[in-house]
Amino acid sequence: MPDERIGVFGGTFDPPHIGHLVTAVNVRHALGLDWVVLMVANDPWQKSGRRAVTPAADRLAMVEAAVAGVPGLRAGRDEIDRGGPSFTADTLAALAAGHPGAALFTVVGDDAASGVASWERFDEVRRLSTLVVVDRPGCQAPVDENLGWVRVESPRLEVSSTDLRARFADGRPLDFLVPDAVRTVIASRALYGGVVPR
Ligand code: ATP
Ligand code: MG
Repeated sequence: MPDERIGVFGGTFDPPHIGHLVTAVNVRHALGLDWVVLMVANDPWQKSGRRAVTPAADRLAMVEAAVAGVPGLRAGRDEIDRGGPSFTADTLAALAAGHPGAALFTVVGDDAASGVASWERFDEVRRLSTLVVVDRPGCQAPVDENLGWVRVESPRLEVSSTDLRARFADGRPLDFLVPDAVRTVIASRALYGGVVPR
């Protein structure tokens, strides 16, 4: 049996949205990956302190709802289980240990790609995985092309969790921007102020 090919798509997912899901399924298809894990950051150290991040357990529940029934997509809880700040280098090392021989792919949108050099132990991330970047509309930050990225084409969807949170706050519709199952989790856990617009 050929070795597994695994994509790691990390994020805060506060909340997960169609931009994440369309990216994950298209990267999986384009690179022939067995599965892509949407790895939920426990403590997104580059974000915490700047705004209130929804508790990790709630973000995980939303991601689990988002990927339920989607072939080849998984929700990742490893960073939450490990606790503390979330570093992709640690996540890749754990995956490599758990899946010997697997080829690992670190997937980022190009806003995140422009910041990878500031990641903790980025040299390890490069050593353990192939870097994959996906176009993200509205992002002007240049990506360092010297890092040997694989670029994957995916429908460009100008959706962000930041915009979705603003939509919750003032009651604009979320229809088609997040899966219905995610809306159900938001309602049942009364996230984002507990007001789910209809
Ligand atoms: P926030 O606005 O809170 O930062 P976000 O929408 O950027 O949320 P994140 O959880 O920060 O979502 O992003 C996780 C990963 O998903 C990053 O690599 C980011 O570039 C990528 N991503 C997010 N939205 C899109 C999108 N619409 N198209 C392509 N990639 C995306
Ligand atoms: Mg972001």
